[in-house]
Amino acid sequence: MKAMVLTAANTPLVLETVPDPVPGPGEAVARVLACGAGLTIHHARAGRIKVEYPRILGHEITGEIVALGSGVDDLRVGDPVTAYFYLTCGRCHWCRINRETLCDNFGGYVGRATDGGYAEYIKLPARSFLQLPPGLDWRKHPAEIGVICDAIATPVKVIRRARVMPSDTVAVFGAGGGLGVHMLMVARWARARKVIAVDVMASKFETCLKSGADATVDAAEGKVAEQLLELTHGKGIDVAIDFVCTAGTLEAAFGALGKGGRLVALGGHGEPFKAQPAALLRKELEIMGSRYATRQEVLDSLDLVARGEMWPLVTEKVPLAQAEAVHQRLDKGLITGRAALVMN
Ligand SMILES: [Zn+2]
Repeated sequence: MKAMVLTAANTPLVLETVPDPVPGPGEAVARVLACGAGLTIHHARAGRIKVEYPRILGHEITGEIVALGSGVDDLRVGDPVTAYFYLTCGRCHWCRINRETLCDNFGGYVGRATDGGYAEYIKLPARSFLQLPPGLDWRKHPAEIGVICDAIATPVKVIRRARVMPSDTVAVFGAGGGLGVHMLMVARWARARKVIAVDVMASKFETCLKSGADATVDAAEGKVAEQLLELTHGKGIDVAIDFVCTAGTLEAAFGALGKGGRLVALGGHGEPFKAQPAALLRKELEIMGSRYATRQEVLDSLDLVARGEMWPLVTEKVPLAQAEAVHQRLDKGLITGRAALVMN
């Protein structure tokens, strides 16, 4: 099969012909119709996250099951599927209580610990494939349907984790990116009172407004907390969702929280930041992290799209062989919403 292969840290993806995957016991193989290309994947392409080389990246797939290993009885050849990004055990305490992103036996990520979807075929443990519900036209829209399993599911989890209510004002930091745009969309769907897009690239604001934002804050101008306080007439925001997570964005988000405010961190920057304990206490603030989504949240997200509640924003669709060009644009922050590779 043809695959775009990462052969060493921070090198261009290379189109290669590699052996077709063969399913072992408990595994399945799907033909890939499309695979999303986002920043999470680019971190591995750029060498910020180490993987074993050579590696085929990608996890946001639309696929069709073509082969089953022994002992797989809950999938059939021809089933349309997407993938669950985390390799979890399904048996530990955290898996059992529907918090499987905290799995004690976490096995890594699809497209990092195991080969992913930047290829004509993908082999995974059968339980990593999730069947698509009826009502999704996956043959016609494989790119959009492929990205639901992360780009929609991650925001759906944030809405639950931060308990977003109709009276809430929500600010999204990094709103123009692939997850950010969908976070705006999902916050609008959750009937938040006001949704504010924060980004350093004003060129992305038109898309943010179309995707569900009511207002924008240009972080390149600085004084982000002050701008947010002004937009809320001094009340402050109820929920700050930070996909960037530098000290600067986290401190601006914290500083803009009103009474009862919740700050959700999803970025991987790893910079420490300052938060005032007195403000935490006086305003009963909450700071929380949110990792990806549970299988059920992925299934819920697929169902939301199947019911017409929302539609993923894939702004660039390219053939497999052009994956590297997409990653060059991701590296420069030039892609608004999601990009995806579409197989022939
Ligand atoms: Zn587990």
